[in-house]
Amino acid sequence: MPMLTDNLFLKIINKEIPAKVVYEDDQCLAFHDIGPKAPVHVLIIPKKVIPTHDAITEADAPLIGHLHVVAARLATQFGLTDGYRLVINCNNQGGQTVPHLHIHLMGGRDFLWPPG
Ligand code: 5GP
Repeated sequence: MPMLTDNLFLKIINKEIPAKVVYEDDQCLAFHDIGPKAPVHVLIIPKKVIPTHDAITEADAPLIGHLHVVAARLATQFGLTDGYRLVINCNNQGGQTVPHLHIHLMGGRDFLWPPG
């Protein structure tokens, strides 16, 4: 079972480690996953530190909505007209390895259901 490790994504936000950034604004950052599991695999993260999905509060609702608007825009930008998958892993049993909320945007191939 994967274990939560250091908050690498905060280091990416702070430009302490490099990433292939595809979108940035005052609220969020999107960049290519270092180990892509699909032809398109982008991570969309809030700049606010929210470690896990279950830490989201009502006050975060506009931010979370914004992340989804950005995901939809990026899906269009990457030509995923046939569909795509969004994934948020939460905590150990959900398969989360980086303790900073992130949406996986994956596309360019067929996905199975149910996921593994
Ligand atoms: P999780 O397993 O937490 O849902 O997803 C974490 C994702 O972050 C994984 O898909 C992993 O490949 C990606 N990742 C881990 N470290 C880095 C890194 O340093 N740079 C980038 N771009 N992606 C990373």
